[in-house]
Amino acid sequence: MIRINEHYLKLQSSYLFAEIAQRVRRFQEENPETEVIKLGIGDVTRALPEACVRAMHNAVDELGREETFRGYGPEQGYAFLREAIAREDFQKRGADISEEEVFVSDGAKCDTANFQELLGPDAYVALPDPVYPVYLDSNVMAGRTGALQGDRFQGVRHLESTRENGFIPDPPGDPVDVIYLCFPNNPTGAAIGHEDLKKWVDYARENRALILYDAAYEAFIRDDSLPRSIYEVPGAKEVAVEFRSFSKTAGFTGARCAYTVVPKECTGYTSQGEAVSLHGLWLRRQSTKFNGASYPMQRAAEAVYSREGAEQVRELIDFYLANASIVLSQMRSLGLTCSGGENSPYIWVHAGRDSKEMFELLLSRAGVVCTPGIGFGSCGREYIRISAFNSRRNIETAMERIGKVL
Ligand code: PLP
Repeated sequence: MIRINEHYLKLQSSYLFAEIAQRVRRFQEENPETEVIKLGIGDVTRALPEACVRAMHNAVDELGREETFRGYGPEQGYAFLREAIAREDFQKRGADISEEEVFVSDGAKCDTANFQELLGPDAYVALPDPVYPVYLDSNVMAGRTGALQGDRFQGVRHLESTRENGFIPDPPGDPVDVIYLCFPNNPTGAAIGHEDLKKWVDYARENRALILYDAAYEAFIRDDSLPRSIYEVPGAKEVAVEFRSFSKTAGFTGARCAYTVVPKECTGYTSQGEAVSLHGLWLRRQSTKFNGASYPMQRAAEAVYSREGAEQVRELIDFYLANASIVLSQMRSLGLTCSGGENSPYIWVHAGRDSKEMFELLLSRAGVVCTPGIGFGSCGREYIRISAFNSRRNIETAMERIGKVL
């Protein structure tokens, strides 16, 4: 008899999102004349930058000619892309990351979900609440949590991100083994400063813990005083892995390209306390289970770092940030407290009532879809997340409609 991995049966969270999709479908069927505006999904809406499209076309042509054809690429990604990443995203900001420490992949979702495979089955995990559900669910699947009790899994440390702490939790008073951090944050939109990030790096160093730092929304940081990478904090290379993605940076959610930085000095420990380089383990894992992002996508990602590509990407992000600012000012003018919307495409709105109730109100009265905060954790119970990924017209219409309802 084939036994299943019963940890999968503990998972619940997808129910809410399925329920939302069903509720939206039903509303559309019952109100065919209403144009529903979806501000719930964290997917980009604008086309790829021209420089990326051109690079992709050229790469496809290369694959179509015998003389320039390429098969399997290097396991860690092509040197042309890893060098551009190390230089432009890190070295130019004073973070000492080499191309050998960069692993190109087809998504930050799979990297953030897979990295826990390198860690002991009994590693004590700390993660923010609210949280991007992938960190929690991948640890539930791996059996690192107890059962769901109420709306929380037992056996993990929830780092509460609330209005009181500005949605930036402090390190706990006792030791944990692995910490997931995400800044700018999905869903709260909060961006962390140097001082707060240093507290986490110091904590990880003191406790020989590991920080898994998700910077998928780094491109939205416009405040130059904020760190763009955890490696801007001295000592972080020994205790932190960083995840980045071209999805939100350059509209690659459909194209797929991302990368993970695993510094050579970043260590985990055996049960005997012997230090082991996580770089070597991740290389081993990736070369066994992954065959690389496609050549055209790596060429397209490389184009993000060209002068033309960088300008187009900036314009793209400016557009979404301007949308975010429209949402933010409307929410504030309605007297609602918000986080995010600056240095982030997400606006986390304190609804002052149950998040599902607010979702229902906005859908049924304004034809606008948001995400109920409870879907990201119990601290989201009274919040909704509004995404700035949409056309200007839809953002303006949605804000106008919400203004009439609230
Ligand atoms: N990390 C965070 C925090 C996200 O919000 C998302 C996507 O919504 C991802 C990672 C996934 O990125 P990718 O498209 O590279 O898989």
